[in-house]
Amino acid sequence: MMGCASSIHISDRVNHSEDSQNCSHPGHIKPQSTLTEVQFGPMKLYEDQLQVLLVFAKDDAQSNSFCWACERAGFRCNVARTPEAALESFQEKNHDLIIIDHRHSRYFDAEALCPSIRGISCSHNTVIVAVVKRPDREEATVMPLISAGFNRRYVENSNMMSCYNELLQLHHGEIRAQIKLRACNAVFTALEQSQEAIEISSEDHFIQYVNPAYECIMGYQRGELLKENTEVPKSEKNKPDLLENISSCIRRGKEWQGVYYAKKKNGDSVQQNVKMTPVVGQGGKIRHCVSVTRPLNDHNKTEKSCERVQAESQTDIQQFSKHKDRRKGSLDVRSTTSRGSDGSSQRRHSSMARIHSMTIEAPITKVINIINAAQESSPMPVAEALDRVLEILRTTELYSPQLGTKEEDPHTNDLVGGLMTDGLRRLSGNEYILATKQLHHIPGHLTTPLSLNDIPPCIAQTMENEDSWDFDIFNLESATVKRPLSYLGLKIFSRFGVCEFLSCPEATLRSWLQIIEANYHSSNSYHNSTHAADVLHATAYFLCKERVKQSLDPIDEVAALIAAAVHDVDHPGRTNSFLCNAGSELAILYNDTAVLESHHAALAFQITTRDDKCNIFKNMERNEYRTLRQAVIDMVLATEMTKHFEHVNKFVNSINKPLAALEENGDSSDEDSVQNILTAPENRILVKRMLIKCADISNPCRPLELCIEWAGRISEEYFAQTDEEKQQGLPVVMPVFDRNTCSVPKSQISFIDYFITDMFDAWDAFADLPNLMQHLDNNFRYWKSLDEKKLHSLRPPPE
Ligand SMILES: [Zn+2]
Repeated sequence: MMGCASSIHISDRVNHSEDSQNCSHPGHIKPQSTLTEVQFGPMKLYEDQLQVLLVFAKDDAQSNSFCWACERAGFRCNVARTPEAALESFQEKNHDLIIIDHRHSRYFDAEALCPSIRGISCSHNTVIVAVVKRPDREEATVMPLISAGFNRRYVENSNMMSCYNELLQLHHGEIRAQIKLRACNAVFTALEQSQEAIEISSEDHFIQYVNPAYECIMGYQRGELLKENTEVPKSEKNKPDLLENISSCIRRGKEWQGVYYAKKKNGDSVQQNVKMTPVVGQGGKIRHCVSVTRPLNDHNKTEKSCERVQAESQTDIQQFSKHKDRRKGSLDVRSTTSRGSDGSSQRRHSSMARIHSMTIEAPITKVINIINAAQESSPMPVAEALDRVLEILRTTELYSPQLGTKEEDPHTNDLVGGLMTDGLRRLSGNEYILATKQLHHIPGHLTTPLSLNDIPPCIAQTMENEDSWDFDIFNLESATVKRPLSYLGLKIFSRFGVCEFLSCPEATLRSWLQIIEANYHSSNSYHNSTHAADVLHATAYFLCKERVKQSLDPIDEVAALIAAAVHDVDHPGRTNSFLCNAGSELAILYNDTAVLESHHAALAFQITTRDDKCNIFKNMERNEYRTLRQAVIDMVLATEMTKHFEHVNKFVNSINKPLAALEENGDSSDEDSVQNILTAPENRILVKRMLIKCADISNPCRPLELCIEWAGRISEEYFAQTDEEKQQGLPVVMPVFDRNTCSVPKSQISFIDYFITDMFDAWDAFADLPNLMQHLDNNFRYWKSLDEKKLHSLRPPPE
């Protein structure tokens, strides 16, 4: 025991006690160094001269011995005679050690003093010792002392060496441990301020600590994760073997680093670059696991995403009200305008303001904006030259969407990945052959089509309001036993005089509609003939809008109706990415490029022209047929989502903006200029593309009940794809569309945010569609409200 003394580092530096209250025992011993190095893990701590407070009402042998021992140990020592003086002295000096005389209750109550000291905020790292009387009969429990806040009991013993040894043991035990714990505050401060997300869990995966960056990134409130004994949330998107690999690494005490999906509070999975380090503790066992998360690719992203999440609730509200205000704003302008039809142009004007601030940011858009701005301050010849530049830019293929602004949202990511890329990925060899059993129905196997005049009354009745946007296609679907396209097609095509235009008998049109409908797969939950009929309905509705009528020729209208009817024919209920990944015959045939759309267009013409009985083009003049065919193909190909932003951008730049410029200059009454923009051949192509695109994905603009039904159908089709991808070992193209985990409201919100809002703003500014925008607003709020309740389903559960 005495050996301890040898570890004391004696230095020549002497500390003089200047305080009159200081212990004045005559000392002959050299005091200890004021600064000692203490190793704490990788941290080097410096221990200052220890401060000791003796609380003794009177000097006696015991207090004198402690004074002497302090001096010998090199500690600075104060003496307080009363509890008041003790508290005052402690507040001033924050002693490392307090020794309180607990032997004489007549002077002061040591068990009351201790809690008072503990009540001072900085006291938790202070060691407090009670000096007690030697028990004369039985040993009493120390529990009352511990409860009062004492760390230790010292049985009175005024032997100097005994006091000295007590101090040495305290110093190297409790006091030094407290000094190390104090350093933990610094370590925690560093963790708290780290931009990297840090998580510490126990060996059995319970969360023990997460820093604010972690909470931010994962969408938690401060301290929320620690409230209950939570396990680290796991994302289902990780492959099971990855999780197994990680835990076996950790179990063997090895570090694991790699890309891993973490699960956010809202259930979203987020891909992260994670380093997991096992921390070996007592008994050589793994006691903790530390995960440090770096964002993928971008070093600045943590900060950004952190800021973003911190403002999340706020942003949500803002986004919501932005959405609401936009819609509301556009409607309010109308309602406050009492000048009848002027209202619509006013409202369109406000839509134009939105178009100017549209977030679709292809580089070409920026270039065009810069040139437009430069034109304003340019002399005439320069402005004219720039006009020609703009013309070239607008008619070449420079448009490409800039993706990635919303890449953190897995729903958007998956939709973009699943719909906008062909997503060819290396496969493990097993080739998927597209089921062909249902392909290419031959006429004659079908019941003889009815004429428009003898459509059964129950079906005719469901089609009565087919010219209304709120028309219920699902009623027609059930009334016609899943053959809505033939019936609605017949009605709409006759309303537009298609037979007259094509010089084709109504019977041929009927056969054609039937063969086309038969080549839709009724087994698809979404891409069946009801979807085709729905797109045809929307197309017909848009064709009746004033601006559209001004822009398009009869041949464009006929092309649009035909394109709508055939645009998804023989759709296999799987996305382009799937077909490419599966190495399907179609993907091989079309070189992984616009596979489905190419197939729909090609098959439509094959079916139509193969048999005179259904060849609606048979009596057309050759050049007219070529023009019509070109237009139909162009429109069907325009439904491919990889070109979504290109089509919307071109439309905004070539049509919305020039029209808005005319309106802003007060030239809107200049009918010739308007007409020139509307009927320019290249612009008519853009209008037709935009028209069929909007018709194709107009589900979010339909009345709520229809919108919900469509959302259920598309989700089911994507779920079925994910099921099959898993079954066949194919890459899962849209992992969020997993029937076990998918939030339909979230996927709808992402789809609306990413694809719908801007496109329909532009289309509304052109075609004037307040009712659609009202539905869109309403539906968006519906999905938001479900999502806010954390519901994943189509509808709230019944009360
Ligand atoms: Zn479609």
